[in-house]
Amino acid sequence: MTGTVSRDDVWRHVVAELLAKGFTVTEISDAIGIHSEAIEAARQDLPTGASPLRALPYVDRAAHRASGQPGAVWFSDPGSSRVSALWFVCPCGCGAVSRITVGMEHKPHMAGPSWRWNGSTNEPTLHPSVHQRDCGWHGWLRDGYWERC
Ligand SMILES: [Zn+2]
Repeated sequence: MTGTVSRDDVWRHVVAELLAKGFTVTEISDAIGIHSEAIEAARQDLPTGASPLRALPYVDRAAHRASGQPGAVWFSDPGSSRVSALWFVCPCGCGAVSRITVGMEHKPHMAGPSWRWNGSTNEPTLHPSVHQRDCGWHGWLRDGYWERC
């Protein structure tokens, strides 16, 4: 890094990191005493449309929903069937939240489309590629990063 960094730059970066980790606006506001409007403004600093883009894993489903963080992922418990629902926020930044069916180390046999998943929530890889019909985003999820085709 070169140049000067202002105090505002620093806390906006910190708040964006906290949002990306899945903390809610209220939690951040309570913890560091920043107005919720200012935290919402920091949300704009989160990356959109970058490629590759980190597929941030969330443990909490509601936090994943609330984050709106492009590329963020949440996997349901695969259970004994070793099949999981993967919810993800579109990597393009359009805000769409989609659900696809993925199988641990196998491609589930089902009527609709399904994907083979490496079983990792932190560094997930899917096969084949993912195509978003509404916004047109098309790319791969590999080792925890979305890569546009
Ligand atoms: Zn999109």
